[in-house]
Amino acid sequence: MASQTIEPLAPGAVIGILGGGQLGRMTAIAAAQLGYSSHIYCPEAGAPATQVSAHSTVADYTDQAALAEFAKAVDVVTYEFENVPFVAAETLARHVPVRPSPDILRICQNRLREKDFCRSVEVPTAPYALITRAQDLHERVAEFGRPCILKTAELGYDGKGQVLIGRDSDLDAAWAQMADAAAATGVILEGFIDFRLEISVIVARGLGGARQVYVPVENQHKNHILDQTIVPARVSQRVADKAEGIARHLAEKIDLVGLLAIEMFVTADEQVLVNELAPRPHNSGHWTLDAAVTSQFEQCVRAIAGLPLGATDRLTDAVMKNLLGDEAAGAQAALSDPNVKLHLYGKAEARPGRKMGHTTKLIRR
Ligand code: AMP
Repeated sequence: MASQTIEPLAPGAVIGILGGGQLGRMTAIAAAQLGYSSHIYCPEAGAPATQVSAHSTVADYTDQAALAEFAKAVDVVTYEFENVPFVAAETLARHVPVRPSPDILRICQNRLREKDFCRSVEVPTAPYALITRAQDLHERVAEFGRPCILKTAELGYDGKGQVLIGRDSDLDAAWAQMADAAAATGVILEGFIDFRLEISVIVARGLGGARQVYVPVENQHKNHILDQTIVPARVSQRVADKAEGIARHLAEKIDLVGLLAIEMFVTADEQVLVNELAPRPHNSGHWTLDAAVTSQFEQCVRAIAGLPLGATDRLTDAVMKNLLGDEAAGAQAALSDPNVKLHLYGKAEARPGRKMGHTTKLIRR
């Protein structure tokens, strides 16, 4: 293949970010380091990302006039969460490069499309099926066995929009619980995976097709929200190789430009099954800010700006701990350990379960 010259965005260019949360904030900080400025587009005033960015637009994602102005003001657009309406990304893409592409966003917004995509490129997932009526549920539960999980196809995150079907669950009652979601976005049933642990891998792919992958990390949840990430994941080399291979393969097949975070289950017999995809920096990659050669946020900016990707090597082992709600109140105390790094997101109100910040403990030998 003839090598193609890629002109990176010049310093001074403006990175447009849809979404104003902590992922956008840390991406904007990385963009600034590379000489870019950021323009945040989000519906909430004073959001974490706007606090560290030169420009912001506070408008709804369906505001066509605001989107048109935003498109004129930026050189490339990315997003920091995947529930941006697809039409917003598609509208912007007519005027300015959107990376990762709206097509990728569309796949990652919907569990059925995600799993269908994985299946189409021979990447294993839990058994799954679209459920459109109670009859389907009865048939598929008989096929997958109990327990199994009903999930809304869209807009569920951190365990929201899920119903566990246990040994004694009444299927008609479970279906009734999901009826609204089924009508709105569709519902899928997944076979229950008796996993040994949950891991994730973040892969970056540049404009020219180069890929870099971070080491698999181990994710521990509390109340369905990520609590801790252990770096690296405590898995065999075989599992790590399999997980990295899946990440590289998906990045290639989905024609990624940017980052793709892949959550996976690892079973006792060393199967690696994909659970979810996110086309953006990921909470489980926060350790890279302090313990990798190139952070996931810098890598994201490099990829979407057409710069060469950085090395993803891990400098030390680490444990990243999310600070949820009130946990952030006494967070500065963690700094009494000189190997702990503290990141706070500038959120005023500590609602229960809200991600307020994180610490990364560097495990130096
Ligand atoms: P999700 O919203 O798909 O990330 O699911 C939230 C959490 O529920 C996951 O992190 C798992 O701990 C659990 N979970 C989701 N799907 C399955 C499954 N098919 N089998 C077992 N556990 C699951």
